[in-house]
Amino acid sequence: MSSQEREQSAAERREALKEVFQQARVCTRCPELAATRKTVVFGAGNANAELMFVGEAPGASEDEQGVPFVGRAGKLLETLLGEIGQQRIDVFIANVLKCRPPGNRDPLPVEIDNCQEYLRRQVELIQPTVICTLGNFSTKLLRGDPTGITRLHGQPEVLVLGTRAVRLYPIYHPAAALYTPRMLETLREDFLRIPELLALGAPEQPPLEAVPELIDAEPEESTAPGAPGREAQDGRSAADQLGLF
Ligand code: URA
Repeated sequence: MSSQEREQSAAERREALKEVFQQARVCTRCPELAATRKTVVFGAGNANAELMFVGEAPGASEDEQGVPFVGRAGKLLETLLGEIGQQRIDVFIANVLKCRPPGNRDPLPVEIDNCQEYLRRQVELIQPTVICTLGNFSTKLLRGDPTGITRLHGQPEVLVLGTRAVRLYPIYHPAAALYTPRMLETLREDFLRIPELLALGAPEQPPLEAVPELIDAEPEESTAPGAPGREAQDGRSAADQLGLF
């Protein structure tokens, strides 16, 4: 894909997102995760969302249902969304890892590396204005820097990801806030500033000729979509059937 994606219609971008979903759902880049997962939890919501959330990795409930943030942390996320007048179908919710790490262990660096192309493609195709990174893993990955969430939460910044500039907004992970009332209070305060950020609109975009063709690589053979044959069509209708996006 290329900088021309910036010019694609929402419908074209959604179709392209389904192709990426089709690749991801048969991904075997992380042998342990591929062997232990029940479902690849690609992401869900509005494929043309202005607001995107990026968590860490699916847990047991997400792995069962194939949908991100459906457990207790997800309920809290939905409550906080409600407090800013949004529903989960308005936004797009994804994770750094698309597969559940066994026993909910932390994602391994190699797994984050293997999986990051899917997240970057999601960001390029959805074209959100604001990306809320939930907790350390997504914040560190998208900022390309080890600074942790405790220092960064609540501080928006403009970041160029792939071909687009977005407003990145790190906030605490709802799962962490579930157990720490003080953190929940801070998460809620940070969350209440999301509407202000959305109201600013998209940041100024880099000129097309200045953006590197970052994610132009041909997919690897094992996950190549190829010409959209039966598997690709299955993948596309699976996204529809699951009501993912
Ligand atoms: N925590 C996450 O980071 N992601 C989920 O999908 C669920 C819980």
